Amino acid sequence: LALIARRPEEQDMPMLDKVLIANRGEIALRILRACKELGIQTVAVHSKPDEALMHVKMADESVCIGPASSTESYLNVPAIISAAEVTNAKGIHPGYGFLAENADFADQVEKSGFTFIGPTGDTIRLMGDKVSAIAAMKKAGVPTVPGSDGPLDDDDERTMAIARCIGYPVIIKAAAGGGGRGMRVVHNEAVLLSSIQLTQSEAAAAFGSDVVYMEKFLQKPRHVEIQVIADGQGNAIHLGDRDCSLQRRHQKILEEAPAPGIDDHLRQQVADACVAACIEIGYRGAGTFEFLYEDGGFYFIEMNTRVQVEHPVTELITGIDIVKEQLSIASGNPLSFTQDDISFTGHAFECRINAEDPQNFLPSPGKVTTFHAPGGPGIRVDSHLYDGYTVPPFYDSLIAKVISHGETREGALARMRQALDELIVEGIRTNTPLHRELVLDRAFQAGGVSIHYLESKLED
Ligand code: ADP
Repeated sequence: LALIARRPEEQDMPMLDKVLIANRGEIALRILRACKELGIQTVAVHSKPDEALMHVKMADESVCIGPASSTESYLNVPAIISAAEVTNAKGIHPGYGFLAENADFADQVEKSGFTFIGPTGDTIRLMGDKVSAIAAMKKAGVPTVPGSDGPLDDDDERTMAIARCIGYPVIIKAAAGGGGRGMRVVHNEAVLLSSIQLTQSEAAAAFGSDVVYMEKFLQKPRHVEIQVIADGQGNAIHLGDRDCSLQRRHQKILEEAPAPGIDDHLRQQVADACVAACIEIGYRGAGTFEFLYEDGGFYFIEMNTRVQVEHPVTELITGIDIVKEQLSIASGNPLSFTQDDISFTGHAFECRINAEDPQNFLPSPGKVTTFHAPGGPGIRVDSHLYDGYTVPPFYDSLIAKVISHGETREGALARMRQALDELIVEGIRTNTPLHRELVLDRAFQAGGVSIHYLESKLED
């Protein structure tokens, strides 16, 4: 309970007095709610068709920044900065996606005299290049995937020797890659060099850089990640781990915290290494270290320098409000708690409800005639939906996150089952039937399935 007395709004910490929310949908509403609690004025920016979004209606001020196309609205840097200028906002919260991990945007925001609610442009740049990110992690003692230790060069003999030493299969990855693109698995030496060339030219075309590196290809890993928060003033802590192995086409579908079945000593060791890395790179804000986990080993793959979709599962097991803490740190305050203040209680799950056909996964935008959110003990729903809201076809299909918390994993899962039964979204199709099936799946109930589990289940 000591924590409750330490929350930012109760410590009389100075806060930015007005924040512009440079995002849409559920995360924009999540940020608006955190701002309201902290007494921060809010500015919503939105595209033309997004005028009816819940957070736009609730914000103190709103500005239309462009037409439907995200390139001309949510990715339109001059329009966003102008909106901050005309409304006299002090900070800009990028949410996730869109401009959240765009280093030039972070720099532009700061150069224009506003506070970017996130790390510095230089940190985003360091972590956005996978080769430099891995090098920084190694230096801080974070475990990485056995690999080429930097970019591959044109010394073919050396490249072949690296692959032999790592052992096949290996994976060739673009340093500037993202979104699951710019990667190629190589199973034997006969196709190694041609595969590297292919990945290089694809990377040059897609990301404007042909730098590639090599890693051991892990065959049945889990996706386990560690949430951190740092204030950029020398304080950093972790908020434990999450398992996000249930994925389809590299998109997470269902997440949980903590990751089940991992040795506590190992968990602790890796989390401590992540904290050390934050201190080492002078990290500021919320961030996530993503790992592949296989046979009792953690292997760093990348760092996300923003709040994540799945942050609520961590909030439910720690009692920490990650978004409020982001706002407090951006206001110049030190972290409002220490590692010793953090304790982990119970287990949490999150189901991502998408507006899509549950059979073929095609987007299913349109008017929501009825929306009924589940409730009861241990249930949280983060959603911008309401009766009569029309889901536009232009953006991500995430419409709601159903989150459950329980004293045990089984308890949290039982609550999730009930919540999914209570959830009603009419007028459009959603992937709720898939979630209802997943929470009854035997292997998932046992815990610890690999990142390939969902896709192989869907193929059956
Ligand atoms: P991105 O930035 O494109 O998301 P990541 O490096 O995070 O790229 O990798 C995306 C996904 O690719 C991982 O979640 C995993 O499924 C797969 N992957 C990446 N590296 C490896 C590896 N060394 N072994 C096996 N799978 C990998």
